[in-house]
Amino acid sequence: MEEKKKPARKKLESTREMNRIMSEYFYGLDQASKTGGQKIAWCTSVGPAELLRALGFQVHFPENHGAMLGSTRMATDFIPEANAIGYSPDICSYLTADVGAFLKGVTPLSKAYQGIEGVPKPDVLVFNTNQCRDVQDWFSWYARRLQVPIMGITTHCGVNEVTESHVASIARQMEELVGPLSEISGKKFDLDEMKRVLALSRTCSDLWKEVLDTAAAVPSPITFFDGTIHMGPAVVLRGTQQAVDYYRLLLSELRDRIKNGVAAVENERFRLYWEGMPVWGRLNAHSNLFAELRTNVLASTYCNSWIFTAFEPEDPFNSMARAYTELFIVRSDHYKEMYIKKMVDFFKVDGIIYHDAKTCPNNSNCRYGMPQRIEEATGIPSLTIHGDLNDLRLISDEQTKTNIEAFIEQLEENR
Ligand code: SF4
Repeated sequence: MEEKKKPARKKLESTREMNRIMSEYFYGLDQASKTGGQKIAWCTSVGPAELLRALGFQVHFPENHGAMLGSTRMATDFIPEANAIGYSPDICSYLTADVGAFLKGVTPLSKAYQGIEGVPKPDVLVFNTNQCRDVQDWFSWYARRLQVPIMGITTHCGVNEVTESHVASIARQMEELVGPLSEISGKKFDLDEMKRVLALSRTCSDLWKEVLDTAAAVPSPITFFDGTIHMGPAVVLRGTQQAVDYYRLLLSELRDRIKNGVAAVENERFRLYWEGMPVWGRLNAHSNLFAELRTNVLASTYCNSWIFTAFEPEDPFNSMARAYTELFIVRSDHYKEMYIKKMVDFFKVDGIIYHDAKTCPNNSNCRYGMPQRIEEATGIPSLTIHGDLNDLRLISDEQTKTNIEAFIEQLEENR
């Protein structure tokens, strides 16, 4: 029997450099944790990381750790540990996996980085509820368990238009964090340092946007699955020179690909948009499945969530408040629909995949008729797959495969 040739997925050369800076970041945190040389803040992924860096903290992001638990397929083993202490299997599986792993004294960091034995010990926990309430509950658990101060920002939700009063209320909350954080870090707040960090974060964000926008090329030089890996520096190193240098390198590789007509998925035939969380434990499987169907899932709301075009270094607090409130996840369905329509158009996609992640209603936008409304308005068909970001017990691989194959067939027939 003739062996079916698997379509090539082009590996990005820049990955090596990304791994290097991510490793430097994790060892830096570990060093600070072991020596106490630099204070450590834990921060939510779209929390005020720039303020923390400007105050001299090293910053750890528990959601990044949750995603590592997911992508190493360790999460499912630890979720029951958190369930056993009263955290429901229906709530965020980043939270339950992370808390469960902590209770068991296990971290994927130890496997990836020799000598790292645990997550870095926090001196303070800082959240922003702009994405969900779960982050506050998650950090509150650690605050009680580790007897560490917790503080944060309580954000509006379902925002249609971001107004000056939204911005002012968030900016004031951020300013109020400065005093207590400065006391913990032992470093006086320096406005020039804040502006410097924010300028780096803005550049990082602009470059990250340019990286993601390369997917508009036909064929696309990048996939959504690449994006979920290469967004690492935009999440954990924004506000640093390393992240800026890294995205310059990645962007130049992608531009070279475009110049030479190199496709991320060989013989790209269909182009899809991904709406919702990735399935971390199935990144590779999904990437292969789509590539075999000569389909590139090339853009997503998820990876775009670390684009903060509102950052203005000369007006740090107001612009951070605006950027962290303009996020997709904070917005009304009306805004979200307009946004997705714009993306679908820009990236020239043939269809949309909605991931209904059981434990993250906040990032599942298919529960109130949005797919149907967008399809009606644009004629772009969609498929909803049911699963989860981390809890593999909530995923049926067979069902997902069958549904995706049928969806591509439908696209083929409609062409
Ligand atoms: S947005 Fe979803 S995945 Fe992220 S922390 Fe909140 S519930 Fe968890």
